[in-house]
Amino acid sequence: MTTAIYSGTFDPITNGHIDIAIRAARLFSELIVAVYEAPNKHPLFTIHERVEMAKKAVVNIPNVNVQPFAELTVDFARKLNAQVMVRGLRMSADFEMEFDMAMMNNKLNPKLELICLMANAEYQFLSSTLLKEAASLGGAINGFVPAHVADALRRKVNNEM
Ligand code: ADP
Repeated sequence: MTTAIYSGTFDPITNGHIDIAIRAARLFSELIVAVYEAPNKHPLFTIHERVEMAKKAVVNIPNVNVQPFAELTVDFARKLNAQVMVRGLRMSADFEMEFDMAMMNNKLNPKLELICLMANAEYQFLSSTLLKEAASLGGAINGFVPAHVADALRRKVNNEM
């Protein structure tokens, strides 16, 4: 039985993240979507909101669970007995950053193997950051996130939540 951890800020979870979770869930017995508290990044959504949105987004995938964490990812992975860490790679945005992080993580926990899944062509240019910017300017964001996330984003940028 292999447990994998898919960590991120998920501020908020997008269809690109969900696509990676669906594909990773097919490869491992259990996938934990680990939502990092990330106070240093000043997320738009609270940790509770991000976890709830992520839970709703993956509710139909039986071997996926969502959990918050506030420590080093490698330490949280150790606690969960996860053997694999999953990350999504977009064409230009992610490689260098992920490579650096992988080197560091490997030093911190050499037993944790990293698997990167290539982002789906449809979601290559989708990021939570761009999405938040589009939403704040009233853009149509429905194709990029599940309906409940689109609603939450609209409410959040209009100060209704
Ligand atoms: P972080 O703050 O750790 O980068 P994110 O929530 O932005 O957290 O991303 C979590 C993971 O999902 C990262 O591996 C990131 O590269 C990946 N990711 C982000 N957006 C997409 C996307 N559109 N398609 C596939 N993977 C993505």
